[in-house]
Amino acid sequence: MYKVNNIRVSLDSQLTKAHIAKKIGIGENYIDSFIVLKKAIDARKKSDVHYAYTVAVKTTKKISGYDIFNREEYKFPKGKSLDNRPVIVGMGPCGLFAGLVLAEAGYAPIIIERGADIDTRKNKVDSFWKTGELDIRTNVQFGEGGAGTFSDGKLNSGIHDKRCQFVLDTFAKYGANEEIVYTAKPHIGTDVLAEVVKNMRNAIIDNGGEVRFQTTLTKVITRNKKVTGIIVKNENEEYEIETDKLILAIGHSARDTYSMIKNIGADMEQKNFSVGVRIEHKQDMINESQYGTFKKYLGAADYKLSAHFDNGRSAYTFCMCPGGVVVASSSEEGTVVTNGMSYSKRDGENANSALLVNVTTDDFGSDDPLAGVYFQEKIEKKAFKLAGNSYKAPAQYLSDFIGTKASTKVIPTYKPGVTFCDISKVFPDFVTDTLKKSVLEFDKKIKGFADGGAILTAPETRSSAPVRILRDKESLMSNISGLYPAGEGAGYAGGIMSAAVDGIKVAEVLVKE
Ligand SMILES: Cc1cc2nc3c(=O)[nH]c(=O)nc-3n(C[C@H](O)[C@H](O)[C@H](O)COP(=O)(O)OP(=O)(O)OC[C@H]3O[C@@H](n4cnc5c(N)ncnc54)[C@H](O)[C@@H]3O)c2cc1C
Repeated sequence: MYKVNNIRVSLDSQLTKAHIAKKIGIGENYIDSFIVLKKAIDARKKSDVHYAYTVAVKTTKKISGYDIFNREEYKFPKGKSLDNRPVIVGMGPCGLFAGLVLAEAGYAPIIIERGADIDTRKNKVDSFWKTGELDIRTNVQFGEGGAGTFSDGKLNSGIHDKRCQFVLDTFAKYGANEEIVYTAKPHIGTDVLAEVVKNMRNAIIDNGGEVRFQTTLTKVITRNKKVTGIIVKNENEEYEIETDKLILAIGHSARDTYSMIKNIGADMEQKNFSVGVRIEHKQDMINESQYGTFKKYLGAADYKLSAHFDNGRSAYTFCMCPGGVVVASSSEEGTVVTNGMSYSKRDGENANSALLVNVTTDDFGSDDPLAGVYFQEKIEKKAFKLAGNSYKAPAQYLSDFIGTKASTKVIPTYKPGVTFCDISKVFPDFVTDTLKKSVLEFDKKIKGFADGGAILTAPETRSSAPVRILRDKESLMSNISGLYPAGEGAGYAGGIMSAAVDGIKVAEVLVKE
């Protein structure tokens, strides 16, 4: 098969053999078959928005000037047998994919997850958004599927790894829309993702793995800096599990577990990250700006913006959710945290994204490896107070924040509701100043971005982990032998795709070690 890219197709048509034949410059009858490798929207010229396809095509005659296409199928490596069952802590994308590949390879992993299964979790999260009563065990950060389950399920990522295609194929195999395997910006949508996670869980169990929900890792037992077992706690009891292979895929919100890992002497270091707000606009304004008159053919548009300032500060938009909502993402009492999500149809009235400012380890104010976590916590607690000691969120229109005129008023989507106030009160001044500058800067790229009717909801503090649990580059083990820090919480991933890939990588070395 030959790889042919940049095949232009207008927005109101489907890709056909004729398009491919025209691109190659041969007769349509020489095209035997083709598979789509990539489908992207080319909106660089607003007067000429169209689809751009990459395909692998089988022709009945030799053609020149095109690379031969070979799809490299991902295969989990054959490893040695293990003395005891590997244990995985956390069932986010990292733990889930580590568990799936280990189970399919016959290692019968045990996965422990402090939160509940997905169905129970959905009820608890819905109830929190309705009533404002938080369950610190099962919420948007904790539970089956991890942080990414109540999300837009965007799968695009900056990493280029051969395992990425395997992750996409696996999500499609377990129920995601097939298009994700070739769409330039694949997304699953929270409504579909929940089912996909459940199907993957059942596949792990069918292949001899085991999943223990509402079971929290409370202690790692070591002898001579080597893992020999763990203590876990569920609703009824605390007990030990013997193991010398422990994958720690805990995410960035398990602050109690971070402290425990620090106290057993695992090497950790501070890590730069970002904080800010969620900004909401009318989705139609974004569609108009990104697609112009072509918007009628296309779904909700997205955007990605960044700005760097002379004082070394920068701001950027992150985790943009087209046609989505801002969600209450607290996992700890007395803290307010925002994030965003979309349903698979992305048909909500508003567009939202995180608007973040870079925070460096110099801003943490102490050498403690967990100082960044305390920096986050301080902002989240201030927000809880400012919102009236509730899980409502502080919010402010741009007209009040930067004094711009409002052409239309955006209705905030955050549930259980917002408290209008001066949001700068939750942030250090450098964050507020940079946010104000960035909105005006972004208005130059998307007209209307700084409209006074746009709304800010605060605070977005869990953009990534402010700490890294150190590991050896080859063995991926920490200074505690048998402990494998992995995923976003350990500081080796940012997003669903890179977390899943890191889980697979750690599972590979674990069986090869
Ligand atoms: C609302 C929201 C929307 C998002 N949207 C997107 C998106 O569209 N696209 C994207 O790429 N990324 C998105 N993200 C980020 C993405 O979810 C994370 O990067 C990803 O989930 C990290 O995966 P992980 O497996 O490393 O950790 P997590 O997904 O955080 O999973 C960690 C798991 O470990 C469990 N755990 C923690 N401590 C313990 C313990 N002591 N014992 C047992 N279990 C424990 C937790 O309960 C949790 O389930 C979003 C995040 C949120 C919160």
